[in-house]
Amino acid sequence: KKEELSPNPTIEDFDFEPGVRPRTLKDFVGQKEVKESLEVFIKAARARGEALDHVLLHGSPGLGKTTLAFIIGAELGVNVRSTSGPVIERAGDLAAILTNLSPGDVLFIDEIHRLSPVVEEILYPAMEDYHLDLVIGQGPSARTIKIDLPPFTLVGATTRTGLLSPPLRDRFGVILRIDFYDDSALFKIVKRSASLMNIPISDEGAMEIARRSRGTPRIANRLLRRVRDFAEVKADGFISKEVADMALRLLNVDQEGLDQMDRMILVTIIDKFGGGPVGIDTIATTIGEESSTIEDVYEPFLIQKGYLHRTPRGRVATRLAYEHLNRTWD
Ligand code: ADP
Repeated sequence: KKEELSPNPTIEDFDFEPGVRPRTLKDFVGQKEVKESLEVFIKAARARGEALDHVLLHGSPGLGKTTLAFIIGAELGVNVRSTSGPVIERAGDLAAILTNLSPGDVLFIDEIHRLSPVVEEILYPAMEDYHLDLVIGQGPSARTIKIDLPPFTLVGATTRTGLLSPPLRDRFGVILRIDFYDDSALFKIVKRSASLMNIPISDEGAMEIARRSRGTPRIANRLLRRVRDFAEVKADGFISKEVADMALRLLNVDQEGLDQMDRMILVTIIDKFGGGPVGIDTIATTIGEESSTIEDVYEPFLIQKGYLHRTPRGRVATRLAYEHLNRTWD
């Protein structure tokens, strides 16, 4: 059940997302600075007739990194080949992908921080001057062959740039941070998806979903689907503010958009560890979740909203967290 509100994609998202995914920069809501930079770089690359510089996108899951990679390809008028770090197991897998690209193509590697070191090594000369150094054979008869590649653009996505090895990070010419969305951007996303999916919704209903989506388009779209189900069964199918609120309550999304996991993290810090500071691994063990999931998926939002602080000695719950959870702050 807890996956329901996690920003990581579910199987259902894979079915549903292509239908509402924006295809052009113009349709991509919010992220003004990111769009402006991309526009300039894309125009310049097109004018020079060269491949765009390699782009690294970093930000929490569900904020639009994959969407942007495909938009970059579309705006450049090239193909996008999509894969992910853990899928590329051997150097040969990456070599096969790279040698099959057409000039100017975009290669999108999601979770690029999870590439194995051997595969990463292959990527360096490919990114720098479009060639591969492949070792053929073993022992004394082993030799290195150099294979030229078509010029291409690597678009890498990761949750935090700190997860990348410095040599890999240094090979990206453009590094863009994707932030959580504000309510008005999410409102536009909910309205846009509702209209593409023919879901009747009032502005107030859309705002209620937007406000409670943890700043994340994937969650906004998923909540919209859940609220639609509720509206069809319990109301006349129309999503008003009241219907949205009732459905979101049932889903355990509170007034501020915190879900069960968010609240569990804060309650643990406050009730079990006196409000902190407490180490991330201790929190993770206490609630039975991976520390990396807490760090990548939940914590950034709680920090951004001012419920949590990171200190050198661990995580600390803020006064806002105490107040939100009805705990006394002294
Ligand atoms: P990520 O790769 O960062 O996990 P995705 O690109 O898969 O995120 O986006 C998740 C969902 O949110 C997709 O359905 C996408 O269409 C939608 N989405 C993301 N960003 C935007 C945006 N700026 N405008 C409209 N829809 C968006």
